[in-house]
Amino acid sequence: MLHLPDHLLAGYRNFMNGRYLTESGRYRELAREGQAPETMIVACCDSRSAPEAIFDAGPGELFVLRNVGNLVPPYEPDGEFHSTSAALEFAVQSLKVKNIVVMGHGRCGGIRAALDANSAPLSPGDFIGKWMSLIAPAAETVSASTFMTATERQTALERISIRYSLANLRTFPCVSILEGKGRLSLHGAWFDISTGELWVMNKETGDFERPVLE
Ligand SMILES: [Zn+2]
Repeated sequence: MLHLPDHLLAGYRNFMNGRYLTESGRYRELAREGQAPETMIVACCDSRSAPEAIFDAGPGELFVLRNVGNLVPPYEPDGEFHSTSAALEFAVQSLKVKNIVVMGHGRCGGIRAALDANSAPLSPGDFIGKWMSLIAPAAETVSASTFMTATERQTALERISIRYSLANLRTFPCVSILEGKGRLSLHGAWFDISTGELWVMNKETGDFERPVLE
């Protein structure tokens, strides 16, 4: 039986009558010539932080990788299954993207779970605890700070995890070599889902600042 949830079929109908109609030429061109996005975004799976919506991107513009907590693991060529590293390798070595943006977001459930190791896990399964342990050292330090409120700890770890992922990106030889040659730029951003504010990481200081929009 051919079946999809009704809201997906309705959305698809709107897409075909709307965006696809206006962008059909672009889709055909992309089909003929292949994709050549200049920017890769590493974002969270969270349904409220969709990069294509936030950056108003059309087809072929963004190469998007989403995982829980927008984390990049360190370079570990150990024969295990590394979906994030595989996408990264493809973006950098085959697509030759010019930018990689790690975008975190407010109220991230994965970050909250990492912060509160004593609380019930985000889910009872086998994978999220292990995945979020990538930022365990930072999570332990931040959660031990009694001078911060719970909200401040959450935002702090969301932003620290972005800097952490950027550092891990640079453990990939293909990334560090191309960045050294000036052919690849790494960026950090944090999206506040309640206000729509985007905070961008300052490369020199690591601080997050509001960009001035024209
Ligand atoms: Zn999240």
